[in-house]
Amino acid sequence: MASSIDDLKTEIKKALPGLDMVIAWAAGPDPLSHTPLFITEEADVERIEWDPRCSQNLAGYLPGLRGKKVGIVVKGCDARSLVELLQEKLIDREDVTIFGLHCTGAVDARAARKALGSLRGGLESVSVNGGTASFSMSGEPRTLPLAEVLQKKCFTCTGADAEVCDHFIGEHGEPPRVTETPATTLEELEAMSMEERLHFWEDQMSRCIRCYACRSACPLCVCQDHCAAQSREPHWVDQTDHPREKLMFQAIHALHTAGRCTECGECERACPMGLPIMTLKQALNRSIQDLFDYRAGTDPDQAPPLFEFREEEKNIKEREW
Ligand code: SF4
Ligand code: SF4
Ligand code: SF4
Repeated sequence: MASSIDDLKTEIKKALPGLDMVIAWAAGPDPLSHTPLFITEEADVERIEWDPRCSQNLAGYLPGLRGKKVGIVVKGCDARSLVELLQEKLIDREDVTIFGLHCTGAVDARAARKALGSLRGGLESVSVNGGTASFSMSGEPRTLPLAEVLQKKCFTCTGADAEVCDHFIGEHGEPPRVTETPATTLEELEAMSMEERLHFWEDQMSRCIRCYACRSACPLCVCQDHCAAQSREPHWVDQTDHPREKLMFQAIHALHTAGRCTECGECERACPMGLPIMTLKQALNRSIQDLFDYRAGTDPDQAPPLFEFREEEKNIKEREW
C-alpha cells in the first residue's frame, strides 16, 4: 500500500481546486484504526494515510454531502457501496470524483488489539504481505496470520480493486489470501435449529446497548429522522430493555437493507459490543441472490430487485396455477 500513497496525494492535489472537499483517511487516536480526513486545503493532503488501518468505509458520508463536489478515496468493497448509492440515486455521479485503490486487507482493530497485546510503545506501520500481516512496534516487527487480524469480510473478499473510479492509483491485484478461517457466524447458525437460533440472537441482543452506532455507520441507512427505532406513529420498536425489542430493530434494519447491503461490514465494525449483526443481512442477501440472481453493489446500471415490480419472477413459484 505504501508505494501508492505518493501517487494518491499527487492525484488529489491535482483535483482539489475543482472540488469542495476530498474524503480520505488520516492517523487518529487509535493506533490500529485510521480516521476520516476531510480535505479542503492542499496542506491537509500530506496528512493522508493509506495502509490496512484504513478500515472505515467513507462512502457513508456522501449522501449527506449531496450537492457538493466531493472527492473520495475507496477500497474495493467501499466502491461497491458507491455503486449501490448511485443505483438508488442517493448521490450524483457527476458530483463525485472517485480515487480507487487496490486493497490488501483491512485490520479488525478489536481482533488485532487482542492478538498484539499492549501497544504502549507505539505502532509505526502495518502491512499485509502474502498470507501474513506485519506490525512494526517500537522498531520491532511482529508477524501474525491474516485470519487473526483482518476483518471477517476480507476472508471472502470478491474484489479488492475499486472497480468504479475516476482515478485508479497503483497496481491492480488479487484479494488477500486468508487461510484457515473459522466458520462464519452464518454457517454456525445454519447448523442450528430454529429454537437454537432464537436463543443465540436473544443472547447476543441482551448485550446490545441501543447506541445505534450500527445504523449510523451503515452507508445505506438513509431514513435519518424517520428511523423505525424512534418512530412513535407507528410504534415499531418498544423502548423496554428486552432482547426481543432490540432484535426487532435489527430485523427491521436487515429487511430495509435486503438486496441493498454490500456486506461492507461497517455495522459490525462500529458496534461497541462486538455483536455479529451483519450475519442477519448476509442471510437475507443469500436469499436475494437465490431468488433474483442479484448481488448488491456490482452494476451501477441495475436496480436492486426489491426496487422493481415484476408480475412474474422466474425463481419464485408462489402460484401453482
Ligand atoms: S473486503 Fe476486500 S476490499 Fe474490502 S477491506 Fe477487505 S480485502 Fe479490502
Ligand atoms: S447493513 Fe452493515 S454490512 Fe450492510 S451495507 Fe449496512 S453497514 Fe454495510
Ligand atoms: S451498534 Fe451494537 S450495541 Fe449499538 S445498537 Fe447496534 S447492535 Fe446494539
